[in-house]
Amino acid sequence: VEKRYLFTPGPTPVPPEVLAAMAEPILHHRGADFRSVYERVLGGLKEVVCTSDDVLVFSSSGSGAMESAVLNLATPGDRVAVVSHGSFGERWIAICERHGLDVQAIRYAWGEKPNADEVGSAVRESGVDLVFCQQSDTSTGVVSDVQAIRGALGDATLVVDAVSSLGAVPLETEAWGIDVVVSGSQKALMLPPGLAFASVSERTWSRVTPRTFYFDWPATRKAQHKLDAAFTPAVSLLRGLDVAIALLLDEGLAAAFDRHLRLGRAARAGVKAMGLELFSPDDDSSAVVTAIHSPDGIDSDDLLKHLRTRHGVTLAPGQGALKGKIFRIGHIGWFDVFDIGVALSAIELSLTELGAEIERGVATAAAFEAYEQPVSTLP
Ligand SMILES: *Cc1c(COP(=O)(O)O)cnc(C)c1O
Repeated sequence: VEKRYLFTPGPTPVPPEVLAAMAEPILHHRGADFRSVYERVLGGLKEVVCTSDDVLVFSSSGSGAMESAVLNLATPGDRVAVVSHGSFGERWIAICERHGLDVQAIRYAWGEKPNADEVGSAVRESGVDLVFCQQSDTSTGVVSDVQAIRGALGDATLVVDAVSSLGAVPLETEAWGIDVVVSGSQKALMLPPGLAFASVSERTWSRVTPRTFYFDWPATRKAQHKLDAAFTPAVSLLRGLDVAIALLLDEGLAAAFDRHLRLGRAARAGVKAMGLELFSPDDDSSAVVTAIHSPDGIDSDDLLKHLRTRHGVTLAPGQGALKGKIFRIGHIGWFDVFDIGVALSAIELSLTELGAEIERGVATAAAFEAYEQPVSTLP
């Protein structure tokens, strides 16, 4: 079998220990063996999300947790605000509109970082008391300052989509006063797709009115408190999550954030050394995904196809209006600087084979050098 390399911002590579745990015999979800796994996982998730509040677990992709937030926090006709600066902000808008909410979209150009003061004034002027945003919009590589946005919102309830950022960049859910954080298993948490999470702050529960059976937050919370899942959970994924959380907490959240920050630096240094132009911001905030303009005359979808079919390397395409124009390297989860090296070498080789004029033989050296710099000694 030809070796394949997965460098997308979800799904992401899964460590062998996690894969092995998921291959263990199936546990019954109402038995003691499962309950001990479930208890550890529910406790570990609180550490990862940095909250003492409940983190609800669903068997679904990340969008399920997003939709659960809309269906538990708002009723048709409610006015809500969405901060959108990429494809996933547009997803919040689509979910809210599908469920009959009156959406005030606070839009930024894709690739631009939302301005917390502007968001705050827009929300306060409109009197909206429920706001949705992304921490990382994976379509662009922008990581927004959700702490500042929280601070600018006054009393409004803030729901943060941290699907691609949880475990990759700092998110002090409770300390920053973020009401709801939704996430998913297949990004920085080093698991396959299939689990979604929603942490809900104490003060938020008073406004919860579930309009969904499967994603009913109060029912889910009640069941989790008894270590008795409301529905048959994805038991094998939860066994994997148990191991993945242990790996992440063993490394330490601070060390993991440091690693992701330096992986972002490495990716940017490498692509710039090759002579390519970044689409994602050229700063340390961009630690989740690096988005790159395809060189003139080369459709990024053709480049990705070449990478995959010739070299077994999978990168992510541009979404929406960026389709064909940019390509993205995800560097979250079970990822190290050698993965960046492979991605850069493959990009370099493929672009050369496709006839682009790029600088050869310098990208990986620049990447490794950038990665070696300690976080604290650079501005
Ligand atoms: C991946 C992702 C999601 C969820 O996507 P699913 O395919 O439903 O798991 C939501 N928001 C962001 C920012 C993401 O990166």
